[in-house]
Amino acid sequence: MVESVAVFEHGSAYDVAIKQFDEAAALLGLSDDMASYLKTCKRELSVNFPVRMDDGSIRMFTGYRVQHNLARGPAKGGIRYHPMVTLDEVKALAMWMTWKCAVTSIPYGGAKGGVAFDPRPFSEKELERLTRRYATEISILIGPESDIPAPDVNTNPQVMAWIMDTYSMHMGYSVPGVVTGKPVGIGGSLGRLDATGRGCMIVAAREMAREGRTLEGATVSVQGIGNVGYYAAKLLEERGCRIFAVTDSSGGCFLGGHVDLQKVKEWKDQGMRLIDFPGAEHVSNEDLLAMPCDILVLAALEGQVTEANASNVGARIIVEGANGPVTPEADRALERMGVQVVPDILANAGGVVTSYFEWIQGRQQLFWERQEVESRLEQIMSRAYDQVVDTAQARGVTLRKAALVLAISRVVEAIELRGFYP
Ligand code: NAD
Repeated sequence: MVESVAVFEHGSAYDVAIKQFDEAAALLGLSDDMASYLKTCKRELSVNFPVRMDDGSIRMFTGYRVQHNLARGPAKGGIRYHPMVTLDEVKALAMWMTWKCAVTSIPYGGAKGGVAFDPRPFSEKELERLTRRYATEISILIGPESDIPAPDVNTNPQVMAWIMDTYSMHMGYSVPGVVTGKPVGIGGSLGRLDATGRGCMIVAAREMAREGRTLEGATVSVQGIGNVGYYAAKLLEERGCRIFAVTDSSGGCFLGGHVDLQKVKEWKDQGMRLIDFPGAEHVSNEDLLAMPCDILVLAALEGQVTEANASNVGARIIVEGANGPVTPEADRALERMGVQVVPDILANAGGVVTSYFEWIQGRQQLFWERQEVESRLEQIMSRAYDQVVDTAQARGVTLRKAALVLAISRVVEAIELRGFYP
């Protein structure tokens, strides 16, 4: 089964990223020259490569690695395995990474990578061979000082371990810093696995506080119960939220506050579809969006809330765990409806912030306790959230526009300080 295709009213994820950029650039009064520089990705690598399958046949695959802007530091961004991966999608995701690193003030530029295939029918050995070959193909770009991949949709610590090992074999010595999101046993950071979900929880708590409420008793629905969605749900539940419904690409189930989230995870870890989860009322992804709740965490893919379904949204607050889940047309509808959207470049930045911690720990060969990782993450996420809210209030704009304005102005500052070479 192929996961549902991201829906865009007008064009691709890249078109969405450009539309969002244009709105923020207009607010900042950016010159056309600077705007056109920032809309352009610095490097776009496409690779076509063969992989031997377990039955002896050879299959061709297409992958990408894109670096958007490196003014603030080395490139940083995840690697996605999904049938709908395209160069345009990877470019959008790389651009969003530039803004995400800038809005949280971590010293990276933005990048992203992906391979266009559905990994589910693949054996472990096939996945390993594909990953090692893809890592080799993109090794002309990646490196601990130049471009550092991390997990994204359908990739995980094991995939990062294979990339790290492949790169290290080519160099002749171990290079743990070439990826983040590695297993802890080879230099990964404690707290990285749940970091993106934790960041979602932190901003959800602050957004509720802005409305004079706590998370205690708040109702939550989660679209996409993968790495980001599961840990966001778990951490929100630990803080007293009631998880109402969760979905994956098959649809999902209504939990009504009494289905064990851990059991849902065990079900998913066995490769089962949520729609088949026993003993729960089934809901479609559209039902989930329409469900009345305090917080809707979108943690699947781009283009899920569109002009067509925005008016059905039943939540008061949307937390964008995923990248680009709300289109610009939907943004306008949600603004009219008074729904607060905590935007992706802020809400899901917990992952890259903790990847930054992993990178620092690796460079120093000095590893932190989980408590230190979590408290530093809380500090950075809270500071970024407060700066975005201050900007939104000062300019009278949405949190998305404020986050973009803040991020873009930091990238512009770096470009101007460095000057134009030669
Ligand atoms: P994942 O592969 O672990 O999980 C994705 C989940 O979404 C799966 O359960 C899948 O079945 C579900 N899904 C896919 N299409 C769906 C649909 N149309 N409706 C409902 N569910 C659907 O991936 P992940 O790492 O959790 O990433 C999810 C999103 O978060 C992506 O947009 C990714 O770019 C973003 N993100 C991830 C990280 C990270 O650290 N992993 C960091 C920042 C942002």
